[in-house]
Amino acid sequence: MIELKVNEKNGLPYYNLSSFLKEHFGGKVRKISIDAGFSCPNRKGKEREGGCFWCDPKGSGSGNDPKLWRQKLEEETKRLLQKGFKGSIAYFQSFSNTYREVKELNEFYRAALEINGVLGLAIGTRADCLNDENIELLSHLSKEKFLWVEIGMQTKNDKTLELCNRGYSHSITVEAVYKLKGKNIKTVLHLIAGLPGETEEIIFESFEECSKLMPWGVKLHPLHIVKGSFFEKWFYDGKIKLLELNQYANIAATFIEMMPPETVIHRITGEREEGILIAPKWCLDKNNVRNEIVKILKERNSFQGKLFKQRYG
Ligand code: SF4
Repeated sequence: MIELKVNEKNGLPYYNLSSFLKEHFGGKVRKISIDAGFSCPNRKGKEREGGCFWCDPKGSGSGNDPKLWRQKLEEETKRLLQKGFKGSIAYFQSFSNTYREVKELNEFYRAALEINGVLGLAIGTRADCLNDENIELLSHLSKEKFLWVEIGMQTKNDKTLELCNRGYSHSITVEAVYKLKGKNIKTVLHLIAGLPGETEEIIFESFEECSKLMPWGVKLHPLHIVKGSFFEKWFYDGKIKLLELNQYANIAATFIEMMPPETVIHRITGEREEGILIAPKWCLDKNNVRNEIVKILKERNSFQGKLFKQRYG
């Protein structure tokens, strides 16, 4: 039997990351996104290039000067400490942050953890960049420090993954999730709603698959078009139809209902800034998108895990 505590935790109908971090660390903690100069096998690999079609040339990341990542992390963490935060989580976000030799990975991660006030690591990567060696390193580090790993699942539909030049099938994601879980490493799955050719039915199949994998955390955003991505051309050629705000808010509300109640909802909308986002412009007002989703959940008298409970509870 699943116990629902969502509303008690944060006053919202879902369990968000800031609530989790506050509970875990006993005070406010913020994630700091960094580009530490990694690359991606899907953009500049031996066998593949071009990248996922939604990705921008900065690797869907923070855009700082990679040479100055440590300085950025240090300065921003210091500011947080001055404001009374408990500290920060170093979020290795841009590109694929396990795509290096394991010795180098260890140096990068430890360089972040050495900084005063950095309480843990969040490592974004591709499922095909998680081999036994680097999973062993992550497992080792996760015993010493707080750590989670983020993987882009995006959809369970292999046809869509191929259409978007993802470079691997959904089965690779499933394999990576089980390997990480086998080592007790917290795993966050990313999903995109509104990829080309996907109906609501297909989107909900991916949500169901995600809920069955029972990740520690999830992120959802609508497909959005950013400057420099392959999809930019498709968008201007009229080949892509994007979700309207109301459509997305309804889909995201269902996503929340379908997730396990214990899963931490890290993000429920897009987070690209004005200079880089082409469409949909409603994505720029993140608070408004969140409010719409919460409004729909309240209208449905619903909350995180409601549909999960009905199916598996
Ligand atoms: S989205 Fe991630 S995996 Fe895809 S090309 Fe960009 S950096 Fe690589």
